[in-house]
Amino acid sequence: EDNFPTLSKSTAAHLKSDLNRTDNSSGVRQLQELLDSVLNPEKPAADTEALDWCKCLIAGGEGFEEFCKTVRSYDNATLCGLVWTANFVAYRCRTCGISPCMSLCAECFNNGDHTGHDFNMFRSQAGGACDCGDSNVMRETGFCRRHRLRTGENVPSVPRDLLLMSEMVLPRFIICIIQYLRDGYTEPDTSTERDLQKVLQQLEPQISFLEELTKMGGAMRTVLTKILTNQQTFKDLSMGQEENVFAKKNYENYLSALKNSGLVSVEEKAQTGAAEPTRGSETGALGLLVIILPIMFFLKEDQDGGQSIGQRKRVKLSGTTKDPSIMDSLKHKCFLEELLFWTIKYEFPQKMVTFLLNMLPDQDYKITFTKTFVQHYAFIMKTLMKSHESDTMSNRIVHISVQLFSNEDLARHVTEECQLLDIMVTVLLYMMESCLIKSELQDEENSRHVVVNCSEALLKNNTYWPLVSDFINILSHQSVAKKFLEDHSLLMLWMSFVSFFQGMNLNKRELSEHVEFESQTYYAAFAAELEACAQPMWGLLTHCKVKETQEYTKTVVRYCLETLQIWFDAIGFVDELAPNQVTFHLPLHRYYAMFLSKAVKCQGLDLDSLLPDQEMLMRIMVHPLQIQASLSEIHSNMWVRNGLQIKGQAMTYVQSHFCNSMIDPDIFLLQVCASRLDPDYFISSVFERFKVVDLLTMASVHQNTVLDGEQERPMLEGALTFLVILSSLRIHLGMADDEILRAEMVSQLCMNDRTHSSLLDLIPENPNPKSGIVPGSCSFEEMLSAVADFKAPVFELGGSMQQGMYTPKAEVWEKEFDPIMVILRTVYRRDVQSAMDRYSAFLKQSGMHTTGNPWPPYKERTPLHPCYKGLDRLLHCKTLHIVIFTLLYKIWLDHSNMSEHVLCMVLYLIELGLDNQVEEDKGDEVRPSHCHDSWFPGTNLLSNLHHVINYVRVRVPETAPEVKREREPPASTSAEASNFGQAQVFSLVAERRRKFQEIINRSSTEASQAVRPKSSSTRWVPPGTPPQLVTEILEIHESMLSLLIKLHQKLSAKQNSLSATWLEDMDANPNRHVHGDGITAIERILTKAATRSHQSKRSIQEICGKVFPPVAPKKNSPTAKKTMDKEERRQRARERQQKLLAEFASRQKSFMETAMDVESPDTEAAMDLGASEVKESEVLYDCVICGQSGPSTEDRPTGLVVLLQASSVLGHRRKSDEAKKLPTTDEEHIYPADTCGAVHDVRLALMQSFFKDSSCLQSVSIGWDGGVYVQTCGHTLHIDCHKSYMESLRNDQVMQGFSVDKGEFTCPLCRQFANSVLPCRPGRSTEVVSWHMPSNKKTSVLVKEVEDLQEQLGLFPVSTTTESNLSKEMELVIKDIKNTTQRKYMDYGKNPGSPDNDFLFMYSVARTNLELELVHRGGNLCSGGASGAAKRSCLNQLFHVLAMHMRLYSIDSAYNPWTRLTQVAPSRDEPEVPMLFRDCPSLLIIFVLTMPQPLRKEHFICLVRMLYNLQYTQALAALSAKFSPEERQAWSTSGTLKKNAFNAEKSYEALLSHVITELSKVKTVYDVNTEEPFMVSRFNVWSPQSIEYSLQQCCLPYLRLSCLLQHHLYGDNLSGCPEEEEFSGLAGCLGLLDPAPQPSNPMYSASCLDWTVSAFDLMSQWCSEVTGLADTQTLLVQDLQWASPHLLQLPDNYNTIFQYYHKKACTACKKVPKDPALCLICGTFVCLKGLCCKQQGICECVWHSQHCGAATGIFLLINASVIIIIRGHRFCLWGSVYLDAHGEEDRDLRRGKPLFLCVERYRVLEQQWVSHTFDHINKRWGPHYNGL
Ligand SMILES: [Zn+2]
Ligand SMILES: [Zn+2]
Ligand SMILES: [Zn+2]
Ligand SMILES: [Zn+2]
Ligand SMILES: [Zn+2]
Ligand SMILES: [Zn+2]
Ligand SMILES: [Zn+2]
Ligand SMILES: [Zn+2]
Repeated sequence: EDNFPTLSKSTAAHLKSDLNRTDNSSGVRQLQELLDSVLNPEKPAADTEALDWCKCLIAGGEGFEEFCKTVRSYDNATLCGLVWTANFVAYRCRTCGISPCMSLCAECFNNGDHTGHDFNMFRSQAGGACDCGDSNVMRETGFCRRHRLRTGENVPSVPRDLLLMSEMVLPRFIICIIQYLRDGYTEPDTSTERDLQKVLQQLEPQISFLEELTKMGGAMRTVLTKILTNQQTFKDLSMGQEENVFAKKNYENYLSALKNSGLVSVEEKAQTGAAEPTRGSETGALGLLVIILPIMFFLKEDQDGGQSIGQRKRVKLSGTTKDPSIMDSLKHKCFLEELLFWTIKYEFPQKMVTFLLNMLPDQDYKITFTKTFVQHYAFIMKTLMKSHESDTMSNRIVHISVQLFSNEDLARHVTEECQLLDIMVTVLLYMMESCLIKSELQDEENSRHVVVNCSEALLKNNTYWPLVSDFINILSHQSVAKKFLEDHSLLMLWMSFVSFFQGMNLNKRELSEHVEFESQTYYAAFAAELEACAQPMWGLLTHCKVKETQEYTKTVVRYCLETLQIWFDAIGFVDELAPNQVTFHLPLHRYYAMFLSKAVKCQGLDLDSLLPDQEMLMRIMVHPLQIQASLSEIHSNMWVRNGLQIKGQAMTYVQSHFCNSMIDPDIFLLQVCASRLDPDYFISSVFERFKVVDLLTMASVHQNTVLDGEQERPMLEGALTFLVILSSLRIHLGMADDEILRAEMVSQLCMNDRTHSSLLDLIPENPNPKSGIVPGSCSFEEMLSAVADFKAPVFELGGSMQQGMYTPKAEVWEKEFDPIMVILRTVYRRDVQSAMDRYSAFLKQSGMHTTGNPWPPYKERTPLHPCYKGLDRLLHCKTLHIVIFTLLYKIWLDHSNMSEHVLCMVLYLIELGLDNQVEEDKGDEVRPSHCHDSWFPGTNLLSNLHHVINYVRVRVPETAPEVKREREPPASTSAEASNFGQAQVFSLVAERRRKFQEIINRSSTEASQAVRPKSSSTRWVPPGTPPQLVTEILEIHESMLSLLIKLHQKLSAKQNSLSATWLEDMDANPNRHVHGDGITAIERILTKAATRSHQSKRSIQEICGKVFPPVAPKKNSPTAKKTMDKEERRQRARERQQKLLAEFASRQKSFMETAMDVESPDTEAAMDLGASEVKESEVLYDCVICGQSGPSTEDRPTGLVVLLQASSVLGHRRKSDEAKKLPTTDEEHIYPADTCGAVHDVRLALMQSFFKDSSCLQSVSIGWDGGVYVQTCGHTLHIDCHKSYMESLRNDQVMQGFSVDKGEFTCPLCRQFANSVLPCRPGRSTEVVSWHMPSNKKTSVLVKEVEDLQEQLGLFPVSTTTESNLSKEMELVIKDIKNTTQRKYMDYGKNPGSPDNDFLFMYSVARTNLELELVHRGGNLCSGGASGAAKRSCLNQLFHVLAMHMRLYSIDSAYNPWTRLTQVAPSRDEPEVPMLFRDCPSLLIIFVLTMPQPLRKEHFICLVRMLYNLQYTQALAALSAKFSPEERQAWSTSGTLKKNAFNAEKSYEALLSHVITELSKVKTVYDVNTEEPFMVSRFNVWSPQSIEYSLQQCCLPYLRLSCLLQHHLYGDNLSGCPEEEEFSGLAGCLGLLDPAPQPSNPMYSASCLDWTVSAFDLMSQWCSEVTGLADTQTLLVQDLQWASPHLLQLPDNYNTIFQYYHKKACTACKKVPKDPALCLICGTFVCLKGLCCKQQGICECVWHSQHCGAATGIFLLINASVIIIIRGHRFCLWGSVYLDAHGEEDRDLRRGKPLFLCVERYRVLEQQWVSHTFDHINKRWGPHYNGL
């Protein structure tokens, strides 16, 4: 604003003082005139002059910035209120939160004390605002330091005139914005959306200015609030001044916008005479509603036929009880209201939303704004429904509404004053009404019920969620929920809303053909029931927990029942269910069930007072029961034709997020029904519903008209399992919340070990909230530690990383494992098996049950709540006993479709019955005798157990075996004769219908309007006439007890398995019999029966005493069958595997047949030959493709499978062994200058500035960065076989993860990743011998021989004339090696592409591989030679290939360093690199590679010796440079004396003295400013010991490398040694040292010298080369010792990294990346996937991996906490090195719990990096297409 003319400033100042006067009328006039011209809405909004004027005027002559500062100093806000948008990282603390929506900004969170709290970090999805300081939303203890201080009290009050100008100017500014908005608005159908966007874009500076104002703090917000809410100002300005045509037009536009939205202003409404319906008193309204409600369901087909969706026609409700004014009238009385209106119209522009939210810390504003929001609520939702961008809009709406409705006071206030609840419910109804269809449930034709259509966008896209989430939010406030529960008309409305979901998404079983298209509407349906119905229900239930709220519960229950009644009527349900239909959605039932449960459990209400009559109960049970039967049908594959989605529904229904809102209420409701209805009726209904009635016959053959044979068994199992669940589940029948939580946890842990987070996810939310939102609720963590043991995360070989897991404690397996709970909670069937397997494993391990497969353990149940005692009658009814008897009989006789599971469930039911006795019906009303009464005398199981059934009448087909049987009626000697006449008959169906009739008749006497059962037998009687049946009478003579004993014999496969005295032998300890198999179970039951009834005991003893005839020959006893099944399965698996193998073998010539671990051939061969004497045989190689074995020949070479990869691991080494710390503040930095790679680069560049390039390129090694590392799995193959293998891979589409075109493949044998083949050299056994020939030649002779050999460069024994296949392959692999790395890592010379470069690169490949091997060996050779690293090495073959290639180059003999190494010769004029600057290991490699192959060992040793002399001299020179001048003087003097002594050439003192003297000849060598840190030596005084140590350290790297080279070339074993003796060990190994030990002289280093010419002369020559050069010292002192490579050191707490890096800007693009990543090798921060930093088509992360790691990169993804590895063109997700307190990863930071560094994992990552094994260990690689 400084550029703004000073004239304006003075104008502003002038006006301000005018206005400050008592009589300010002229000032006002002047200002208005000024504003009239400045703020002209006819000018384009983009013209910012107006804005500048406003700023200037507001500041009143001051600078605007200055003004802002002043106003800010009066900020009295006590709330943080920071507003954020999507993706912002915020915190939530459940310990501090009052509202679950509470959130904090990072600053407030970090400045508050939340130690030990249950908090997490989260990424905001819809945006939010900081609640710090708001005690309505969070506890004050959690406020941050700043907002705890209540700054408001200490702030001085605002001076009167400071904001005077603002008060005058801002109203005009705001109306101006409004006018722009009015003017710019056009209805979406007439304009494109972009028009609206354009208007907004132009207004951006203005709205931003408003936002800026809000940030000036409380004082300014107060002014804004006054303006925004003042009705007079709005009235004055809104319509515009009289004469302003433009303003008038705008106003018209505004009115028409209102109208087009279907809204009318209230006045208009009054004019048209539409009287606003007034809501009468509560009772009055209710009375009206009761009448109206049925009408609501009276449907009218939609007139507009075109609107139909698919085939289903939308329907409209003809009449509603809603207040129409809620939906369609609006009136604006202040700026705020109209601003909000336009905000909605423009679909919530982000800037506007932020402005409106930024104002919230002002309390007056907050209240008015909330009211305004509520006033517009219906309009908002209407707009949302129409929006094309409903997702974005939803987020913005919730962004606002959460801030308003999370505050209980405010929510209550608007509920009371603005009918918030009415509005919400009305709008919900309105929304859902837009997508109603006619229900097809039950009666397709005549149904009057309507349901939502789940395929409509509203449901599919979850568009309703903002509304539902608001509703749930306000219901969480006790005071609001109370209002809701007290308002009967609201409850009625709500119930009708819920009924829209009742029966939605109906499934009809496909009987003939598979569905053409699998509808996915079920997602929408389940989501809708959970969010729109269940969540509000749970919200309401939390307020019905005490006696005082009994009335609420009663009311809800009443309306539930009423609505259910209406529903039954509407769908036309009488008593029979339409066949083959199921809906999983019964929210009305579930509301009813859950309120009942609460009433009994918490409010002490009497269950019977809340239950309807029997008839209604019978109806209520039908649909939930149908779901249970359908579940079983679905699992029995009866619904396969409906596709996979039906399985999805069955699984969702029981899944942890849904189970307590769906299956649990259903089961509970069925339990309630069972406890009140006649048990015989209930049991027979169950079997009928499960369609297994036909199976329940004693006859061996039966007809089942409804089920296929293979479905009978699973359906019977389903029915029995359901009965067991029903009679044993106690979730709502008396278990305490703690017990429920414990049971849930145990069942999940028994299925599988679980991570903390998955367990948290699997435990249902209700009734136990999982974390401490409710203080005092039982704690998840405490319970977890009580039932489970923690298994810390471990790293598994093969690369998979285990997370921390919880596993059940032993005593849990022993005492608490509950198979029934497991069955109830399993989504995947295999989980039941898994639990059983784990259970048996436990029993075996603990020795509790060791033989065979144990059965699910029986578990005693907690006692029933007295209200539900009736449930036990299920177990004591004749019908069930008949079923049990029949099944026991059938199992004993091996009838078809029986199973172990059936027996198990039958026994379970018997045992449950024995454990849950009921008092016999005392009021034994005389009932008409029924057919089945003759079966058993009473209903008590205990007495029925020993009751003997003699004859049974069955109806069987004529073909049944029973018919053929000769059956003479037994001589009627006793009373049995008469019994025979009426042998037992039984029909479940008939029984159920009779019962039903009975109940109906009974109730019909009560109610005059009895519903007559429909005579619609065609409906449920299965079609098809059964074949001819004949009645037969079976002779049985068994009781349940006798059948049990017979089954015992059958199971144990022993006659008389139970002796007569068996019962006495049973010990009293019942626990002994808890775990075991079927035999144990039967024994346990018999014991229980005997101890509880004398008669039973006698009966058992009697039966056991009898000698039975041989047991009916059992075809397959269940146990045997099971083992057989298992064997069979195994056999089948074996066959399958063999078939696969055969296929594979025929395709690839059976390379899988070869042994799995093949020794690396070369080392083995070398060692063999070294040990044994002359062996003429050639080395043989096995080809892993063709399986043949043979030598590698010129014609048909064999090769090693190798992986070539570029590596910069060596280059990242540093001198210090300590890893660099990852910077986490702006003050910390990483400097790359001290890495090995950088130091070498500098050295080479320095040399190149002084000396001839070709000479420089032979004096160093490269490959520290981007060198090529060669590794092998050790397997060999024919190279031609490999080629055909590659060809087959190319055609194989299945191969993934690697690119065949790049030569990549996996080893056919071991599947290790590879990309080249390294040819093996042929033959060579005779040569090996000659190599090892002992040599007694004098050194001088050898030196000469070496010189001669070097003259023969290029003369090779192997074919030099013709190109053989072998040499071709060798050249190919050289090409591969070159292609492995980037050009820049090969071209170090001044002339790119010159042979010198190539030469350097080639010998450096050897160097790289040697150095890396050293690193892998731990940096030294102390561990000896038998290490695994050598075994799998291919260095020998690699050297051979390199040597073959190097023959292409010749070194000019004139430049041959050998001469200068061994002879005293005049130095040349050429600027060659002095010997003292040359790198000895490099020279050694050059010599070895360029001499004729194979090189004899004596010559190799000679090379090593001569170079050692140089290395030693270099060490002396370097050492002398470290001396202080005084020390130099002293050592020089003392050494001179020894020069003439014996053996002076091996005296370090003499030599040192000589070097000092020589180098001192010219001042430049030592006279350098010595400020560098390495000059401060670690030795204070140089002692002989420290000098020797220093010299050894200097020579060690050279010795190590030489020794390693010798090991690979000649197969010499490396002998291990202690670290302090490494020097002598290596020197001995290389033959530098006399073999005789020299214990007296520890000064080895000098005694290793071996001079062929005068040492002093040679040294003088070397020294003279360096004198007179600049920078001598830098080059003289080489860095030779490098520590092991390390990744960056990471902080312990992940938050440290996250907080710094997630909002850090990239140094390249200066923006905060969306996906920031961090290189863990060097610390570089990059934009993952960002287009911002893409260069040459490569994204930054990939780019960096190429430059930092030569195509290997390790990146930490900041926002995900995981690490990705980039390797060339591929990448993989490695996992995380940060784990939470439970040892789990938190990928993408979804849970947001604190994460800590897992040191072990990080070490593994580093180790994989250093050993180059990423490719082998991680399996899930994918191409990254340069897009990371
Ligand atoms: Zn904050
Ligand atoms: Zn704060
Ligand atoms: Zn806290
Ligand atoms: Zn082969
Ligand atoms: Zn292999
Ligand atoms: Zn890096
Ligand atoms: Zn970047
Ligand atoms: Zn970028």
